[in-house]
Amino acid sequence: MELYKFLPKTNCKKCGKPTCMAFALDLLQGKVKIDDCPPLLEPKYKKNYNTLKELIGSEEGKEKELRIDVETDLCDGCGICVTVCPVNARYCPPTLSGKAPDYPPEKHQLFQVKAGKCELLAIKYCRRIEAQGRERECRVCETYCPRDAIKIDYV
Ligand code: SF4
Ligand code: SF4
Ligand code: SF4
Repeated sequence: MELYKFLPKTNCKKCGKPTCMAFALDLLQGKVKIDDCPPLLEPKYKKNYNTLKELIGSEEGKEKELRIDVETDLCDGCGICVTVCPVNARYCPPTLSGKAPDYPPEKHQLFQVKAGKCELLAIKYCRRIEAQGRERECRVCETYCPRDAIKIDYV
């Protein structure tokens, strides 16, 4: 599990859970907060702490806003993001076989290529906002973009 990788993995029980894995599962389900793990607040775990904040997308209970930026100077309009995004695949059947989705876009469609550039259409349907559990950690578009044009962030 991705969240577990960034915990101290000492099973110290200071969070009240028997293991770091148990804490990771509760973290995934929103039953505990990152700050409930005292060792993570130590300077040596600062990088892990920040990574977990990004993965969970919240800070001290205050929801941060998801941003998916497409760098148009880098994008060459290949359309890979359109076909690999699981939300597009679900609501735009042609993308399952690597084809362009129907036009005009279905309301859930997240990406389209227009005039040779990728456009983000409906971020509110992104798995990072809508899904539960591990699907909420989706990073497929950023991972598969061959031009590194997509950046997922929380601001
Ligand atoms: S306090 Fe942190 S390091 Fe200790 S068991 Fe809980 S999650 Fe693991
Ligand atoms: S995968 Fe990357 S390069 Fe291709 S259309 Fe999407 S953003 Fe542009
Ligand atoms: S993070 Fe996942 S669901 Fe959201 S736009 Fe990217 S591929 Fe689609």
